[in-house]
Amino acid sequence: MESVRKTFGGSVVLRDVHLDVAPHTVTALIGASGSGKSTLLRCANLLEEIDDGAIWLDGEEITDPRVDQDAVRRRIGVVFQAYNLFPHLTVLDNITLAPRRVHGVARAEAEERARELLERLGLAGKADAYPDRLSGGQQQRVAIVRALAVRPRLLLLDEITAALDPELVGEVLEVVRGLKEEGMTMVLATHEMGFARDVADQVCFLDGGVVLERGSAEQVFGEPRHERTRRFLRRIV
Ligand code: ATP
Ligand code: MG
Repeated sequence: MESVRKTFGGSVVLRDVHLDVAPHTVTALIGASGSGKSTLLRCANLLEEIDDGAIWLDGEEITDPRVDQDAVRRRIGVVFQAYNLFPHLTVLDNITLAPRRVHGVARAEAEERARELLERLGLAGKADAYPDRLSGGQQQRVAIVRALAVRPRLLLLDEITAALDPELVGEVLEVVRGLKEEGMTMVLATHEMGFARDVADQVCFLDGGVVLERGSAEQVFGEPRHERTRRFLRRIV
């Protein structure tokens, strides 16, 4: 992201945001409620139109008006806090819907990939279950499988543990750790500071729509440069 600016009505929500995400790394966005984390992720996925600046993915400027936005979104997997599974579809159908309908993958191939992913995320027995028969953590893992089913280049995760009971948070974070080991490029907004510190290669502290501080997890958590970052971390840890 280069000099990204986003306003809603008259108010500036992202101000001159610069962000580099290297392939196969994890970037954690931290910051108080309302600081702009979700908006940043939504802009990155072109769910929101930016007012100024540019966003690049794999060397292509995706905010160029001539770009095929659907094609860009197909390269980016997104998982949000509320898992948004379709309640009337089985786990397997939830996962294979986009590959089949949007990417034109044959059913057998889509199902094979789905079962492989379910197995990897510890959900092998759940393919034919409906979402309301799964725990919150299982539903969130299915949502992650669904995002992975289209083989995205980049995965955006917005507070994926926020709606979960504390005892279910660990299993979802474990999945993110595993994806990191496999080399998936991820940008995640999180209030789980211990997790951010543990999994992130890069941490960005957002404050009022500005990336106030950006560095390695050790640097931002260990030796924050800004008083505001220190205050935020003191309050939350
Ligand atoms: P949280 O930690 O609570 O999820 P956040 O860092 O994700 O917060 P955002 O959701 O990005 O924060 O919101 C940033 C600011 O933008 C807030 O002041 C919010 O009210 C405003 N905002 C977000 N979406 C819209 C919208 N669609 N219309 C108007 N204002 C919006
Ligand atoms: Mg948010």
